[in-house]
Amino acid sequence: MGKNLTKRSEDYSKWYNELVVKADLAENSGVRGCMVIKPYGYAIWEKMQAGLDKMFKETGHENAYFPLFIPKSYLSKEASHVDGFAKECAVVTHYRLKNAEDGSGIIVDPEAKLEEELIVRPTSETIIWDTFRKWIQSYRDLPLLINQWANVVRWEMRTRLFLRTSEFLWQEGHTAHETEQEAIEEAEQMMNIYAEFAEEHMAVPVIKGVKTESERFAGAVETYCIEALMQDGKALQAGTSHFLGQNFAKAFDVKFASKEGSKEYVWATSWGVSTRLMGALVMTHSDDNGLVLPPKLAPIQVVIVPIYKGLEQLDAISDIVKPLVKELKSKGIAVKFDDRDTQKPGFKFNEYELKGVPIRLAIGQRDMTNGTYEVARRDTLEKETVPMDEVVPKIEFLLEEIQKNIFSKALDYRKEHITLVDTYEEFKNVLETKGGFVSAHWDGTSETEDRIKDETKATIRCIPLEAIEESGTCILTGKPSLKRVLFAKAY
Ligand code: AMP
Repeated sequence: MGKNLTKRSEDYSKWYNELVVKADLAENSGVRGCMVIKPYGYAIWEKMQAGLDKMFKETGHENAYFPLFIPKSYLSKEASHVDGFAKECAVVTHYRLKNAEDGSGIIVDPEAKLEEELIVRPTSETIIWDTFRKWIQSYRDLPLLINQWANVVRWEMRTRLFLRTSEFLWQEGHTAHETEQEAIEEAEQMMNIYAEFAEEHMAVPVIKGVKTESERFAGAVETYCIEALMQDGKALQAGTSHFLGQNFAKAFDVKFASKEGSKEYVWATSWGVSTRLMGALVMTHSDDNGLVLPPKLAPIQVVIVPIYKGLEQLDAISDIVKPLVKELKSKGIAVKFDDRDTQKPGFKFNEYELKGVPIRLAIGQRDMTNGTYEVARRDTLEKETVPMDEVVPKIEFLLEEIQKNIFSKALDYRKEHITLVDTYEEFKNVLETKGGFVSAHWDGTSETEDRIKDETKATIRCIPLEAIEESGTCILTGKPSLKRVLFAKAY
């Protein structure tokens, strides 16, 4: 199985698409740009949700749910917001079908036209701020810290499983605050939570930064982001957190009575990560044999494969393995004993390799005699023989070790793929030959950014928060610049 996968070096894109399908994460559907997330993929997403949800709740956020449909007039209330999303909206115009009179089949009933068209939410700021107006009267109602887990629809023209789909699953946080400072701190806090989740749970190193004006969220004053680097040298925006100023409060007339008794507009943030994170996970760690999953997100952390002839041998193995399974489960380790009689061990080995299970134990007749297991780790593909009474601590050690190892491997790759350049020639050369992030001076204008994008396809991924203050000159125009920004070709 694993061996039928296209190699990354041959065709990275093809490798990715094949892997997502073969590893049973997701598949394309009959609806353009929309995917089916299969149980194995959804189990990983559920682990992501659980990890993030816990972090949101620990920082005082509560979950709620708002409608899928947004009246068209709501979307138009914030001018730059509607501009940004208009081109990718799905619109509901009718509410009924009927049989065509000429018998040609089912048609939209022209008499069932909606008075006001509805937009399938591309994001929920407008419907939520229309609601917040009713929830916020005084400073006592603030801060309001809401999160929603939902699906959204953006009519994307070029789609790719998980990374960019027309319908995707995400969470969107929406918060309201008394002061500008508090809202900015919230937006920064959520970017930090995303970065922590990416690094600690997904083992994906990210760079924190702010977007330039042209890459900013439609309606935001500032967009904070985390940027990751994939193994083909392309960047991926993995999460965003927006400081919205008072834009939505003004558009939806959300005011609060301050402690001093004056009426003030509230300050807002919104922030989101999506099923795109699944794509980031696959693209960061996986290899030519299949997925490599970080133990913290793996639906199966340890798989045990018996090697036997006949039911008698299987029974003997099961007697040894079952207490181990029980012990591992009691320690909160997700373990599977694959005693299916319908597949050969070799088939099972390939399957779990393809599916990225971090640790595989095998036990056959020789192991039974010697009192050992064969322990194989997915990240390095190394195997060793471990005495049965040492296997539990070995597994506990390896789960942590693999989590750390794949993070540091990804971090090393990223370090090797941040290149400082000082001329446009070098810039173009690095993009062509090596890829990755290119750290360069930029004069701060959208015109220059656009020209560089047109000429090289590279965009400014972010102005890193930890940018070294260092004056220089713009690689394109030679105009002065105060710090370097990160460019890359991106997904
Ligand atoms: P935004 O609301 O545009 O800031 O996006 C919020 C989150 O959704 C970001 O983490 C994006 O990476 C992600 N995202 C945006 N568009 C898509 C898409 N078409 N498919 C999957 N994820 C997306």
